Amino acid sequence: MSFPYDAPVSQTLFDRASLVTPGGVNSPVRAFRAVGGTPRFMVSGTGPYLTDADGREYVDLVCSWGPMILGHSHPEVIAAVQEAVARGTSFGTPGEGEVALAEEIVARIEPVEQVRLVSSGTEATMSAIRLARGFTGRAKVVKFAGCYHGHVDALLAAAGSGVATFGLPDTPGVTGAQAGDTIVLPYNDLEAVRAAFAAHPGEIACVITEASPGNMGVVPPLDGFNAGLKELCAEGGALYISDEVMTGFRTSKAGWFGVDGVRPDLMTFGKVMGGGFPAAAFGGRADVMAHLAPVGPVYQAGTLSGNPIATAAGLAQLRLLDDAAYAKVDAVSAEIRSLVSEAFTKEGVAHTVSAASNMFSVFFTDQPVRNYEDAKKQEAFRFTAFFHSMLSQGVYLPPSAFESWFVSTAHDTQAVERIAAALPAAARAASEATS
Ligand code: PLP
Repeated sequence: MSFPYDAPVSQTLFDRASLVTPGGVNSPVRAFRAVGGTPRFMVSGTGPYLTDADGREYVDLVCSWGPMILGHSHPEVIAAVQEAVARGTSFGTPGEGEVALAEEIVARIEPVEQVRLVSSGTEATMSAIRLARGFTGRAKVVKFAGCYHGHVDALLAAAGSGVATFGLPDTPGVTGAQAGDTIVLPYNDLEAVRAAFAAHPGEIACVITEASPGNMGVVPPLDGFNAGLKELCAEGGALYISDEVMTGFRTSKAGWFGVDGVRPDLMTFGKVMGGGFPAAAFGGRADVMAHLAPVGPVYQAGTLSGNPIATAAGLAQLRLLDDAAYAKVDAVSAEIRSLVSEAFTKEGVAHTVSAASNMFSVFFTDQPVRNYEDAKKQEAFRFTAFFHSMLSQGVYLPPSAFESWFVSTAHDTQAVERIAAALPAAARAASEATS
């Protein structure tokens, strides 16, 4: 595929980056490997827009992979950051911001009785499974194919996100010992979970699942799936860990728990709660959390955990996320979904727009997508043509057919009109694509 529109400044930056950083990016999903072309180097963001180093403006449908639910440079978040940064950047001691952010999380999400702050979603899931193993005295972890929980060694098996985008096999560098206790099952298949418990009695420490997966594209849990997991965990003496790094504080005020009400033993958070800074968390039952150091024996720590700037940004963002804000994000998501579907239908492109609250993605198939195997059957090559057409018309999508799209409260009528204007040509490009 050729790319008639160029981005010379991004290209120069990418060339420089590629000399000093593997693949020129600090996180594989930012590369355009799956779609080809030059990754855009962004220099600023305002509301629903990003501006790249060549001065081109895009409607942003990535929102930093979820965190920017209020759009870019929200004045109140920026003010909170400026106020915090003027007082210093890191103290290595407890601070009030951490307490306030923890209180906000506990107040919003009923199953979270206690919470520990960390700096990334990866740290949150890694710590949660360590805690589950320490608490239960068991080794095995059940995860689902296509779910991504960060680049934790034990959880990279059959993972989603970049691992799915690039079709990677299980990652070299993860030893048999690290992966040997991981049981990977098909998503949305309770029978498989039941069979795993039967095959490994007394051995399974936890089942970890994305509360509603967004890393193989958006594939919501079937009715009763999460409740069934909870029940099987309780019967089998394992902990049920709901990974809400992506859905937390996005799919509702109380994340996916606010949608399905299934009460996990432990939960993990990231993205939205950091307001665009590195802040994440894990929490849940107080009796389980009591096993963490310094109260209990399970060690977990972090030099920058609860960083004052990150907590100030996160808290400012969460406090702005009231019912009206979620109603707005849900409404704009629904509007864009129907525009996308209409454009593909007009061009006769087989597709499914799959949504979980305001998260959504497009699968190039009209067959139901219930798990990773189904997701992989889509005609992903159509996405490449669609992506580049949208990009050339100033709409920035995730550069992968296996990622969620994200919107914000800042996506106003003007931004939606720009998307609507770009869709007909992009849908045509998808319909004309030939592998
Ligand atoms: N869990 C889920 C569900 C995620 O979507 C991600 C990242 O996309 C992570 C964990 C890892 O978070 P981080 O990239 O902050 O390490």
